[in-house]
Amino acid sequence: MIKENNLYPADLILLNGSIYTVDASRSWAESLAVKDGKIIFIGHDNEVKKFKGEDTIVYDLKGKMVLPSFHDSHVHPVVGGLELGECDLTPFRTEEQMLDHLKNYARQHPEKEWIRGGGWQLPVFEDGNPHKSLLDRVVPERPVYLESADAHSAWVNSKALAVAGITKQTADPVNGRIERDYKTKIPSGTLREDAMKLVSTLLPKYSDEDYLKGLQLGMEIANKYGITAVQEASATEKIIKAYSELDKKGKLNIRVVAALRWDSKNGESQLKDLLALKAKYSGKNFKINGIKIFADGVIEAQTAALIEPYIGSDGKKGKPIFEAEELKKLIRLIDKEHLQVHVHAIGDYAVRITLDAFEFASITNGKRDSRHHIAHLQLVHPKDLSRFRKLGVLANFQPLWAYQDVYYSKLTEPVIGSKRSRWLYPLGSLVQNGSMVVAGSDWSVSSMNPLYAIQIAVTRRALHAGPGPSWIPEETTDLPSIIASYTINGAFLNFQEKKTGSLEVGKAADIIVLDRNIFEIPKHEIHLTNVLLTLLEGKIVFQDPSFE
Ligand SMILES: [Zn+2]
Repeated sequence: MIKENNLYPADLILLNGSIYTVDASRSWAESLAVKDGKIIFIGHDNEVKKFKGEDTIVYDLKGKMVLPSFHDSHVHPVVGGLELGECDLTPFRTEEQMLDHLKNYARQHPEKEWIRGGGWQLPVFEDGNPHKSLLDRVVPERPVYLESADAHSAWVNSKALAVAGITKQTADPVNGRIERDYKTKIPSGTLREDAMKLVSTLLPKYSDEDYLKGLQLGMEIANKYGITAVQEASATEKIIKAYSELDKKGKLNIRVVAALRWDSKNGESQLKDLLALKAKYSGKNFKINGIKIFADGVIEAQTAALIEPYIGSDGKKGKPIFEAEELKKLIRLIDKEHLQVHVHAIGDYAVRITLDAFEFASITNGKRDSRHHIAHLQLVHPKDLSRFRKLGVLANFQPLWAYQDVYYSKLTEPVIGSKRSRWLYPLGSLVQNGSMVVAGSDWSVSSMNPLYAIQIAVTRRALHAGPGPSWIPEETTDLPSIIASYTINGAFLNFQEKKTGSLEVGKAADIIVLDRNIFEIPKHEIHLTNVLLTLLEGKIVFQDPSFE
């Protein structure tokens, strides 16, 4: 029994709600009370009243839904926020729209030496391969650098190629490709993976202030979507500084666990530097827990590493960033420092060698509570599905990608074929076999809104497609499982499951209120749901103006 006299009065009471607690028995409640940032009561309306004092804020929810706030397990809040201030092509679906926007943007920003931005969709262009001449038509004088939405390609104009000294003679870098005109072999304006760096390293540097502003923007979007905890998927020191500074001021309104970016071109000696960063920057809501490694690229650019060749490629399988043995050594090395390893793996070969490396690390270093995870998991070989659970490796999905979009029909299915396509985003299989599944947005690659991703996880249909058959119905999942991925499992990934991720007495009051009960509406309408209130440790970090 809790000593009650310490608990009166509560700071805040929610009553008359549909509260889905995500506790071990997935129980429901009507009301809860919060004091000093913690949940002190959860249960029935008639019991909560005794916690009410003169200054207690009381919300009568009139049946609205309450959930633990969301955890985004793979997201780039700072970089995403920075990009919002640049030439943002995210909303556009045709060449003309993009070029119009670019033209206006350049006109409005005569002060910018470079026009930079991103968010363009590969399928808008033939083979996902836009040409420099389109940009030259609109901005001939200044260099233009535009990253694709997935950040694995860049579209540049002739001026940018010239400034970077990229010519017909320039060789492709080790993990990159300079796209070239078929006949002349002259660079055509699309750069893949590490070839992007030939230009991106020349861009004007962002200031610390820019990073801070980017973080603030990203964080506001997160809170608006009900997110109060994230795993930052690719932290550099500048990014870390922004988090740390806001945290010191008590203004970091998301719990951030960062994975530090491993540079595949620097050797093992960088581990020491990364460990130093980890020791240096750690605060109340900000921690560094691990290291992010890229195992491969993306299928659309044929930089993902596959077990069987790409169709129509003369046997090309896509090269992994690290050869299998190299990856084993690297992951063993990092695991030995008791760091969590966060791996980007898209192709089934990249997934397989990553699992091999995790297995190797646990055999050689000994089993521990490592919570290593693989993000994206676009294509997984069916033989590898059972290994996640066996090895205790967490599956980190971006469910918003799991439907038949133009990427799939134009760029993926043609190169991997229908048989392999059965195993795209095998979320349902991994939930079914008892693997720990977490979920994230990969914003700014795609929308940060978890309710969009939750809908697609249960329907595997485009957001606005309405009711109808699911794409690979075996790989849909049920609502309780995907909600767990976005709450308690996400907390587990970040080693915070004792503190947050479910609504239970003694846990932090990380809570959201939704305008409808997502269990009671048709699945294809989940995306219409709005977050009305977001609390982090009992503090209101977002409130919709309509909610009082
Ligand atoms: Zn990412």
